[in-house]
Amino acid sequence: MARIVQKFGGTSVGDLDRIKEVARRIKATRDEGHEVVVVVSARSGVTNELLAKAAAINPQPHEREMDMLLAVGEQETIALMAMALHALGVPATSRTGGQAGILTSPSHTRARIMRIDPAKLEDRLKAGEVVIVAGFQGIDLEGQITTLGRGGSDLSAVALAAALHADLCQIFTDVEGVYTADPRIVPEARLIPEISYDEMLELASLGSKVMQARSVELAKKYGVTFEVRSSFTQNPGTIVKEEVVSMEDVVVRGAAADKDQAKIIVSNILDKPGSAARVFQALAKAEVLVDMIVQNVGRNGIANLTFTVPRGDARRAEAAVAALLDDLGGGHVTVFESIAKLSVVGVGMRNHSGVAATVFTALAEAGVNIQMISTSEIKISLIIDLDQADRATRAVHAAFKLGEQAPAAVGG
Ligand code: ADP
Ligand code: ASP
Ligand code: MG
Repeated sequence: MARIVQKFGGTSVGDLDRIKEVARRIKATRDEGHEVVVVVSARSGVTNELLAKAAAINPQPHEREMDMLLAVGEQETIALMAMALHALGVPATSRTGGQAGILTSPSHTRARIMRIDPAKLEDRLKAGEVVIVAGFQGIDLEGQITTLGRGGSDLSAVALAAALHADLCQIFTDVEGVYTADPRIVPEARLIPEISYDEMLELASLGSKVMQARSVELAKKYGVTFEVRSSFTQNPGTIVKEEVVSMEDVVVRGAAADKDQAKIIVSNILDKPGSAARVFQALAKAEVLVDMIVQNVGRNGIANLTFTVPRGDARRAEAAVAALLDDLGGGHVTVFESIAKLSVVGVGMRNHSGVAATVFTALAEAGVNIQMISTSEIKISLIIDLDQADRATRAVHAAFKLGEQAPAAVGG
């Protein structure tokens, strides 16, 4: 007998037929003699509908009320899933995040999981029940409902797998697993049978929404090996686990494009010590997450500073910087919203040269202009025009032959 956490995302539980289908799958796992903890998302589209309703009623809703509203989506699914299991004769019980003992920080809409009290679920498992937990939500010390950020059901599943010492954590979704690029954008993308936490984390943070980035971080921290697979087929999917040496044979594992970025240029500011510090202190105070930063070589005592932020933060960042301009000797702040960040990722890059050259050549041949570049040990990211993002992703995917079986060898 094993203890298994199974998470089903929005499309997997998208309508009543899908919920019944998933219930049959859960029953099959339980019939094999396993203890099953199920984590579910809201039906696909529901979270977005709730967000739209909030926006229509108040453009600046209080975050506490936002969480109260958003938690409803998952709560509908847990109840329906429990009913579907009861209809199949399976003992099952639903739990909100709070009832499942998921204690979070009080930061509404972006709470962090602080602790999970496993005793709450252990009892039910011992009683032979399937426990169905609402993903994406928890409760803070004061008993307020919190949510964990978009895609947060993945995090609920991984955290529960760690807290309950599960033998297996399965993330069921609407594609066969993790691909070399988003298969909806790159038709030649290939399923990756095994990937390291670090590569998965980079792909997730850089725009591959198949897993929420924080869930991968947590899995790495607690050594939770997990499987990403389809709820529509019986195929095996992708195993995400600790890096093994052979993974370094593959130079580039995958490509991702993040289309939710904006670029901000602060031009004609005084080129003197402290200018950049002032700008980034103001951005930190405004709780803007800054990603890439480039400062050009100052000329005639004047410099330009360019950086990227999540598109949703762009106007807040613009206002924060605009308030400083007088102190920085004048200058302008300009926001460019039509950009995307394209990245290639692979742990094998540590030991190989020539990756950047291949990316630049592929983009040059595809007529894509590169606006900014940043590199780390296992990734290269580039800022390009938003409307060229899909074409550019396909171009780099082809350049590294990611759609072919054999891993591409690059340079030295
Ligand atoms: P769920 O509702 O199950 O959480 P998501 O919509 O959050 O599912 O994530 C699955 C989607 O992620 C897929 O439909 C696919 O379009 C997208 N995706 C983006 N990048 C990748 C990738 N590299 N591999 C697989 N899917 C990807
Ligand atoms: N329902 C939430 C969302 O749409 C959480 C999730 O699906 O993981 O972001
Ligand atoms: Mg998701």
